[in-house]
This record gives sequence, structure tokens and C-alpha cells, in this order.
Amino acid sequence: MKNDNINKSAVNELVINWHITEACNYNCTYCFAKWGKPNELHRSLESIEKLLDELAVHFIKGNASLKERLGYENVRLNIAGGEPMMLGSTFSIVLMLAKQKGFKTSIITNGSYLLNDKFDIPDNTLDMVGVSFDSQSYDVRCEIGRVDRKRNSLSSESLKIALEKLSNTQQGIKTKINTVVNKLNWQEDFFNLISEIKPYKWKVLHVMPYGKDELIISNEQFNSFVEKHNGRDLPIYAESNSAMTESYLMIDPKGRFYQNSSGGPGYKYSGSINEVGAVKALKQISFNEAVFIARYLPIEPVVFINEGAML
Ligand code: SF4
Repeated sequence: MKNDNINKSAVNELVINWHITEACNYNCTYCFAKWGKPNELHRSLESIEKLLDELAVHFIKGNASLKERLGYENVRLNIAGGEPMMLGSTFSIVLMLAKQKGFKTSIITNGSYLLNDKFDIPDNTLDMVGVSFDSQSYDVRCEIGRVDRKRNSLSSESLKIALEKLSNTQQGIKTKINTVVNKLNWQEDFFNLISEIKPYKWKVLHVMPYGKDELIISNEQFNSFVEKHNGRDLPIYAESNSAMTESYLMIDPKGRFYQNSSGGPGYKYSGSINEVGAVKALKQISFNEAVFIARYLPIEPVVFINEGAML
């Protein structure tokens, strides 16, 4: 399908989300990062390097038609989980290798390993950090499951300290805060916290109908959360349920591409990227560039609420 209306300048970064592990020290009730204890690829350093090479050759160095059509300049490898920092030195190696091979890097984390010197990310290997933070109330975080086995949970004060510490070792790092809006926090006011942290982006996500039904909120409740914070000079971006299900290229812990299967529940998986190669693996999930582009473009600019253009 020809799509002449694509505004190439709107996409300067292709994001590949690698859910590197399903292991996590928290237990959020709405967590959808479950793959049933797979044989995770990161256990072999050789496999990690091979995967990054496959991706770099196809998306960075190669003549990927996706690159041509979207006009992107960078490819960002976003490491998600589970909690990626639970992998310790393996996680550091992934970041270092990704940088060597030309990727921008980012991580989605619950932030708990950024504290108390539990883990030091090698200097200047991280371009962006996204911390999931749902409530300033300890009780609410407990109820959501944002606690470890000892009931430790990242507080707003700890979050500020962790980000400060990170900015000392990762030059120019961008910070993103992700908040899942649900039954327990939709009336909470985050103005002071977000104003103080000054993230590059504060992404607010409507809780998905997954896990405990009691956490689900209506569109009206979600919109009321958004409206309360809108127009107050916060870098707020709202993502609806539908936008969340269809974005980015995704890789599972076994090193396979996956995406929502069209028209039905569940996911469609490719073979192992290391075994069949990136090109064939993309074909196996019936990866359709035109559809991907149509989904990809509206994700960020259109939902920029400060511009009054919310979806
Ligand atoms: S912190 Fe993230 S990966 Fe861990 S349980 Fe919560 S939602 Fe899932």
C-alpha cells in the first residue's frame, strides 16, 4: 500500500522492545510480562551478541526498507522485563554491547535496583531510563503489588534520589516516568512530584484489562486523571488501551519477535531470530510495514496533551 502522507520527520527513532526476562522482584497485579518460565536467551553471552548483531545488521546497517520508509536516524534498544536489572552483570554487558553496535539504549525499570548501591550501570551506556511509578502512597503501592517479598517499595523520595544518582553516571540521560492509572490512583495528584523530577516525558497509561478486574477504570475516570494534570506545565502524554496494544517492535525473552495476532487474543511469535535471521523472523509474524507505520506514527506526537491534541 502506498502511503504518501507519512511525515518522515515525525519518526527519528525506531524502538525495539526486548523483554529480556520475565523475572521481577515486584508482583504487580496488572503485570502482563508472563511467558511461563521460558528458556531465556540472555543466559548465553554468545546468543546475546548474535541477537544484537542480527538486529544491528538489519535495522542499523542494512538496507532495511523500514528504515527507508520511516526515515529514522536511530534505533533504540529498549530493555524491558520483568525487571532487567535482576540480571546483574549480564544486563551491563547487554548495554555495553548494544552501545558498541550502534544502538541507543533505554531501560524500563521499577527502580528498586537503582537504590542503595545494589547495582551500578556502567558509565554512559544508557540514553534513557523509564521508571514505573504508580503512587506516592505506600499502602496503594502494596495493594497494586509494587513491593518486593520484604514489602520494600520505591517511594517518591527514593525515586528522586535514584534519578539524581543516575544522572551523575549517565551523561545527558533522559528520564521518563510511567504511571499506570487504575482504580487505586486515578484521584491522586502527581503535580508536585512530576514538577520536581522534571522528566523528559511522563507517560500515563490506562490500566489494561488484565489481572485484577477491581483495578479497571472507565475512560471517564482515566480522562479525569489526565485533565487534572493537563495545562499545568507537565510533560504529560496519555496512552489509551488501544495504542498500548499495538506499538513498537517486540522481542520476547526467548529472542523471538512477537505481536498481537490480528483480530484475536494472544500473540503471534516468530521463530528464534538467532536461528532464522531477522528478515525471515519478521516475515513469520506477518510483519506488515504499512500497518506498522500507521500504528507507529501517532504514538507520541498525537497524544501530546499540552498541545491539545489528545487521542
Ligand atoms: S514491576 Fe513491571 S515487570 Fe515487575 S511485576 Fe510490576 S509490571 Fe510486572
